[in-house]
Amino acid sequence: MSVQMKNGGIPPKISGNFYGKDFIEISQLNKEDVYKIFEQAEEIREAYDSGSISDLKVNARAAILFFQNSTRTYSSFNRACQILGLDVFAEHGMSAFSLAMKGEFLRRTIQSIYQTQMLTAGDVIIMRHPDTNSSHIAASAVDASIVNAGSGSLRHPTQALLDLYTIWKDIKNLNNIELIFMGDLKFGRTVKSLGSLISMVGKNIKINLVSPDICSLPDKLREEWEEAGVKTTQTTDVLYVTRLQQEWFEKSNMMNEYNKIKADYIIDYELIKKAKNNTLLMHPLPSNGEMEDPKLDEYAGARYLNQMKNGTLVRSALIRQITKK
Ligand code: ASP
Repeated sequence: MSVQMKNGGIPPKISGNFYGKDFIEISQLNKEDVYKIFEQAEEIREAYDSGSISDLKVNARAAILFFQNSTRTYSSFNRACQILGLDVFAEHGMSAFSLAMKGEFLRRTIQSIYQTQMLTAGDVIIMRHPDTNSSHIAASAVDASIVNAGSGSLRHPTQALLDLYTIWKDIKNLNNIELIFMGDLKFGRTVKSLGSLISMVGKNIKINLVSPDICSLPDKLREEWEEAGVKTTQTTDVLYVTRLQQEWFEKSNMMNEYNKIKADYIIDYELIKKAKNNTLLMHPLPSNGEMEDPKLDEYAGARYLNQMKNGTLVRSALIRQITKK
């Protein structure tokens, strides 16, 4: 429960039971929890396709609070909550709210929304924020479950779930998978959460880390994945591309470096068709020029569009698990 997070504690393990818990980082999950979400997503897909979503309804409230820009994650969580029939308050521009402008502590902002929206334990606050510890802070402030929709440049756990679900739809055995993570591995958060998730779920995973030197994956994470048995490789089942995170370069006063490397890598149809048969091409989007070729959509292994619908399904599954007794 959220209350276990008080005093900056570690978020509780899910261990088979999501109800009433916060979902903040991948380390809360075990393999069974992950497959539980995938199976629930499959059930929701079937119910949706057969027009029986009324069976999925849950009696709970949700506040969706985004302090950072988003198109896909924001609309995906909104849709997920609608599918489940949740009573939703959604605000995309939280950083422009007077609370944030006046420098109010995040803790108070979260408490305020919790009060005005008359939330209780069993309800959910879905939150995106530029600070890595934002979800932890929110979780210690209120009894509603906090779901991390992206925090800082380190965590994006629901993106990792939808990414792995997308891979699993094509490759049922998640052992012996080879992936390439390409792009900004320093500031991008999606590859970090996906690497942590796949190194926990799969055995004998190989990840090739391709990035300009100044955008390489933090050593600490690479070491953690290696400890979990991940190796590096040159071939791949999955090519997962990310954009250079211009906003983080700006924040770190590194725009000179950004301008030097920004045109360094482009994936187009001509290139991808040379890839090993069946290589899945993924991207969390947005893309900033590295994957704009419209012909890419014709590539048989293109999965970046599927990722988005899968995201809505996975998030519906997660929210249902958290809010349904
Ligand atoms: N939409 C993803 C995120 O929120 C990827 C990105 O912004 O590049 O991290």
